[in-house]
Amino acid sequence: MSTTETSPPGAVPLPRVPTQLFIGGEWRDAADGATFAVISPSTERHLADVAAAGETDVDAAVRAARAQFDGGEWSRLTGAERGRLLFKLADLVERDIDVLAALEAHDVGRPAFEPRMVDLPHVVDVFRHFGGWADKIEGRWITPQPFFGSLRQAYTIREPLGVVGAITAWNAPTMIASWKLGPALAAGNAVVLKPAEDASLSTLHLATLIEEAGFPAGVVNVIPGLGDVAGAALVRHAGIDKVSFTGSPEVGREIGVQAARDFRRVTLELGGKSPQIVLGDADLGAVIPGLAMGFLANQGEVCAAGTRILVAREHYDGVVAGLAEAARGIRVGDPFDPTTTMGALINAKQRDRVIDYIAKGQAEGSELVAGGGQPEGAGFFVEPTVFAGGGNQTSIAQNEIFGPVGLVLPFDDPDEALAIANDTRYGLAAYVWTRDVSEAHRLASKIRAGGVWINGGAPPDARLPWGGLKTSGVGRELGFAGIEANTEEKTVTITL
Ligand code: NAD
Repeated sequence: MSTTETSPPGAVPLPRVPTQLFIGGEWRDAADGATFAVISPSTERHLADVAAAGETDVDAAVRAARAQFDGGEWSRLTGAERGRLLFKLADLVERDIDVLAALEAHDVGRPAFEPRMVDLPHVVDVFRHFGGWADKIEGRWITPQPFFGSLRQAYTIREPLGVVGAITAWNAPTMIASWKLGPALAAGNAVVLKPAEDASLSTLHLATLIEEAGFPAGVVNVIPGLGDVAGAALVRHAGIDKVSFTGSPEVGREIGVQAARDFRRVTLELGGKSPQIVLGDADLGAVIPGLAMGFLANQGEVCAAGTRILVAREHYDGVVAGLAEAARGIRVGDPFDPTTTMGALINAKQRDRVIDYIAKGQAEGSELVAGGGQPEGAGFFVEPTVFAGGGNQTSIAQNEIFGPVGLVLPFDDPDEALAIANDTRYGLAAYVWTRDVSEAHRLASKIRAGGVWINGGAPPDARLPWGGLKTSGVGRELGFAGIEANTEEKTVTITL
């Protein structure tokens, strides 16, 4: 079973990709034959039916992963050998970058240039970075206190956890999958990966590349399926040692509770409501495009989107006008049209949720200065939207909207900006725009967030820890933090 060509003449065809479950190195239908429909966000056309894993399939996938971890071929590979497989996977992603970008444009509704230029080169880098780690995961040598006169020495070994159950979100599917696969595989874990039901196709193509790279069958299992069926069964399965989850705080909380009950490791990458602080000395000409990208990239469906734009009062009117103009200059439409700069939201529910927040913003006293509407025709599109004023306690200031909606608020001094920035239940990212180096670092030290970007947001980097505080999550991915999160440190003590 695979996707079939359904595009109208002239459109970029949907690449062929398997639509089955990838378990133990084999492609198969769900045990009960269940499927779910894939709908294009930009055309509302039916793209494919994908096998939907049920409890039996989750169990088979976990068993396949366990067999590799508990004495299978994978458990006997050296770090250098695991690294070579990750390097090969990176090369294959690089080879198929256009295929993956096309799949994400069809399936997620985002302009194809975005994954092509941003996410997928990053995915290649993530696999290479963690391929490099695979033979450099070292322990420590520590001298403990003597015990009843006997000298002792101790060393530690970083060992893989076992089977990692990975659950991803739909907004940047290949990128999020790479954050989970890269460090888990470098460290020697086996993985069962459940992609989001709203965007599984690029992850299914990634599974074909994992197969082609030559990972032993069962080291990585990809099981598309519904969250409350396949996701919930994976989280509950006794055969997994860790859950690595990217998604909403609501589901993340349930997963955290379940993991605590089972004494299981857990990493939770959840939502955000990130502030962008523009100080009085900022150069508006340079800052406005960065501010706009900070909340409008990927239709605003970005966990780290800088949706609360806090501006020194002397710049307030200029930033409001500049962002309104930037929003009006965005071309919303067909993800494959090279002039398109913003695509469609993932589904009708998400579009309606964004429209509902836009209505709330107006009802609660913020001024709508750009956008707010839905373009005519098919597709789950919403105009890039800018609000001004109304305070930090409104619904649009406090809740993650996950759409192209930003709110501009004024402040009178940097400490007031800091207080507003931290007055949120989230803590994923923050942006500071200023030419004052000392003030930038002072604010960075006081902002309660997992990451702070000074003078320019950027996609995450494979070498830098990524994750949030408070409702934005638990734990870190990427860099050495990713290795730590996928290993246990064992201590061996020797009495001399
Ligand atoms: P979601 O929580 O609805 O779904 C995420 C994943 O969880 C999907 O694969 C889904 O099938 C699965 N799931 C749903 N219910 C489940 C259950 N009961 N048990 C197990 N799995 C279940 O979130 P979403 O709407 O897909 O994603 C949007 C959210 O993800 C936003 O809040 C966004 O900020 C967040 N996100 C965070 C990051 C980050 O790095 N912090 C990155 C991307 C997205």
